[in-house]
Amino acid sequence: MNNKPMILVVEDDAAVRSLMAVTLDTQGYRYHLARNGAEALIEASTQQPAVMLLDLGLPDMEGVDIIRKVRGWTGMPIIVISARSEDADKVEALDAGADDYLTKPFSVDELLARLRVALRRVNAEASAIGESAIYENGSLRIDYAAGCAYIADREIHLTPIEYRLLCLLARNTGKVLTHNYILKEIWGSYTASDVGSLRVFMATLRKKLQAGDDTQPYIQTHIGIGYRMLKQDVRPEDTP
Ligand code: CA
Repeated sequence: MNNKPMILVVEDDAAVRSLMAVTLDTQGYRYHLARNGAEALIEASTQQPAVMLLDLGLPDMEGVDIIRKVRGWTGMPIIVISARSEDADKVEALDAGADDYLTKPFSVDELLARLRVALRRVNAEASAIGESAIYENGSLRIDYAAGCAYIADREIHLTPIEYRLLCLLARNTGKVLTHNYILKEIWGSYTASDVGSLRVFMATLRKKLQAGDDTQPYIQTHIGIGYRMLKQDVRPEDTP
């Protein structure tokens, strides 16, 4: 019996598709391959993949439309893999519901790392019963009931907006959140000029998270796109 996660690869380029297949195979993942959007939608609905790796430029359909359709019935992680380096394409895909993106050409190690992040998110969601009252990530801890955040058991003093930003990122750990999404969630609106203020809030929040001895980076900046809460690596002896 193979209970390894199943990955759906959507890619019209045969060479890239077989590179991905070989890579997934050597890591013991199961996979299904789709060459176009129509196949992708069939495979996504019938095979119940754990994660979808999606090329944006497909012969029959825009990748973004596939994301929108798939998001109608599943929250499975979608990692966009695209030759398009324009930020606007990535932002559109993320806003449509993608979790992450990779720009071609990509390294196999980077692909596998992103895949592990996505799978950790799936596992974390599966093991969480409802919304946990306590969030823990490295030495960062958020007590949602008390409305407090701690680094290495020391409370960090946050303004209400900083706290809400932190909670939003924490609830979406591993997922890239676009400026647009964050502004809508926190302030309920979006204008391009707000991105500047968001950047200021994030800089202060990040400084506060890095107070004390803890120098682990929690918040990753995606220039021109948004931010992501990074899952801190768990030491081997902490793994169940
Ligand atoms: Ca393509």
